[in-house]
Amino acid sequence: DIRLSRRVNAVRPSPTLAVAARAQQLRREGKDIVSLGAGEPDFDTPEYIKEGAIAAIRQGFTKYTAVGGTPELKAAIIHKFQNDNGLSYRPDEILVSVGGKQSFFNLCQALLDAGDEVIIPAPYWVSYPDMVLLAEGRPVILPTDATQHFKITPEQLAAAITPATRLLVLNSPSNPSGVAYSRDELAALGEVLRHHPQVLIASDDMYEKIRFHDEAFVNIANACPDLTPRCIIMNGVSKAYAMTGWRIGYCGGPRALIAAMTTVQSQSTSNPTSIAQVAAQVALEGGDSAIHPMVHAFRRRHDYVYGRLHALPGVQVLPSDGTFYSFPGFQGVMAARGLPDDVAVADALLEAGVAVVPGSAFGSPGHIRLSFATSDDNLRLALDRIAAFVHGAS
Ligand code: PLP
Repeated sequence: DIRLSRRVNAVRPSPTLAVAARAQQLRREGKDIVSLGAGEPDFDTPEYIKEGAIAAIRQGFTKYTAVGGTPELKAAIIHKFQNDNGLSYRPDEILVSVGGKQSFFNLCQALLDAGDEVIIPAPYWVSYPDMVLLAEGRPVILPTDATQHFKITPEQLAAAITPATRLLVLNSPSNPSGVAYSRDELAALGEVLRHHPQVLIASDDMYEKIRFHDEAFVNIANACPDLTPRCIIMNGVSKAYAMTGWRIGYCGGPRALIAAMTTVQSQSTSNPTSIAQVAAQVALEGGDSAIHPMVHAFRRRHDYVYGRLHALPGVQVLPSDGTFYSFPGFQGVMAARGLPDDVAVADALLEAGVAVVPGSAFGSPGHIRLSFATSDDNLRLALDRIAAFVHGAS
């Protein structure tokens, strides 16, 4: 028997990927499954972005680059942060990584010692707690529910901070809840954080571009400019430009921290793929026009899914502010159908022909996550099946 590290034994494989695998297997066995499990846009990467990468291959841009990203891509990111977010960075305050996922991984490795605490509001993106554990840190989960719109309160935050707290993670709009913090809500959290200068803030803005209202995007550095030196602003091209497979994420933050994160990266992956960096640069330099039709489709689908779920007895659902997720509570259905938990709900729905992710994977039992990054026809079929299940017909 091979003895594995305590570190790796403490984490689980990504549960969202497990659902996708299960659905795929059932499909292979001939079962008709509509998957609402996907964590990625169903659209193709825009053509001009692909062309940029093809040209880079042809020009021989196929060698190592600077570990933390090419100067050209960093310049495009600096321009994006300035233009979209009003944040000013220098190149040594920017890191380009292998997806947003590696940015957060680097952050945990560079920041945390054993036992250091990271405050993570639930429901959370599945990878945060496990990446904290891999760095031997301690995830401190703050539960939220629909009555507080899945957002932590200043009181919750104040009560959770200890001398061991090193980091607060904010993700707005949120995967999986779809809700976004308002400027006032962020300002109120900032007020608490001002009393605890040892706490840094990771703002995961991955879904910045996928929002359904016209108000300007706001993160905690916008709401509390004085806290900017303590913020790591994380973003990427994966969701905004339908580029999940290209694996490019980026962040801006304090120089010393970015340098340490770059060192971690230099001893793990080295630079992100050279040609994917060119594609990301083309995406960022091309502006938002390719994004609009995708966001328009997500908004239309959201309204459909929200409307259908809202009409179901025993289902509690909030409208999403953005992302391509809805996160309904199924406690009423669980009680009516005698199901013990959300995993049983997800299993029963899979039997009924719909793949979803149980909320407990995101730290919020009693809920399920539905992704509407799929076609209108698929959504109609899936919601018909969910409705039939809720009404007890299947
Ligand atoms: N942050 C959030 C909130 C996400 O949902 C995801 C992807 O699911 C990521 C970060 C990571 O994205 P990437 O594919 O760029 O690693």
